[in-house]
Amino acid sequence: MIKSESRRCHICGHIRKLTDDHVPPKNCMTLEKVDVQSLLSVILGNNIVYDNHKLKQQFQNGIKYNTICEECNSKLGLYYDKTLGKFINDLTDIFDSKLQIPPNFTLKSKPFRLIKGILGHSLSASLNFPDTVLDEKIKPIIFDENNSIPEDLNIYYYISFIRNPYVIQNFLIIPNNSLYLSNDELNSIFFKLVHFYPISFIITEDNRFNLNNLTKFRKLEKNETANIDFTNSKRLPDDFPSTQDFMIMPGGDSYVVK
Ligand SMILES: [Zn+2]
Repeated sequence: MIKSESRRCHICGHIRKLTDDHVPPKNCMTLEKVDVQSLLSVILGNNIVYDNHKLKQQFQNGIKYNTICEECNSKLGLYYDKTLGKFINDLTDIFDSKLQIPPNFTLKSKPFRLIKGILGHSLSASLNFPDTVLDEKIKPIIFDENNSIPEDLNIYYYISFIRNPYVIQNFLIIPNNSLYLSNDELNSIFFKLVHFYPISFIITEDNRFNLNNLTKFRKLEKNETANIDFTNSKRLPDDFPSTQDFMIMPGGDSYVVK
């Protein structure tokens, strides 16, 4: 990837020299040498080149995306990564402990910072410039000091035990008698998915997922805390969205760690 020239920052849109953003943030988990591969190339077979984008890359020290400017990168770190890191680490401690996990439990966090951190890294974890309607909706929210999360933006979450992080950009799914939607009309659903063990976040304008919704806390101020619900029974299968319950169309810019 060309690093020396200025390119457009995926968050603020300014043409600047870009910096490496770790996704997940370094304080969420330790990853050493990893291969990151396009989900599309996994589905279609290795070694293909799609639309001139390099679909497989190796990272020596966790996964980094050279996609956001220094200012946006340091603001993500300063404002949101501590909250996001603590949340992921607390959850990891619960699921990695030898204790039996209760069917329902809550975890205290600051939803304003958690939501904006997830949204910010969901924009940076992309090798193409994000310009979907969903991306355009997310960009102005990230560093807005107000609780400006639109009513039609949802972040659903569910426990998932896949160890490696992955980001799925811009998937279109067509529900097919799904158990996971409150309404299984055959309308398409467009979404992004960010997975940091042991939790996955689905970012979408759709409101039909029958999962816990983090954006129900969208009205909270930046330092307000809330107890975030976990319902163990509300899970998507670990292979979602590669499940028979959905017909899927992968976006070309989705990445998995091999
Ligand atoms: Zn920027």
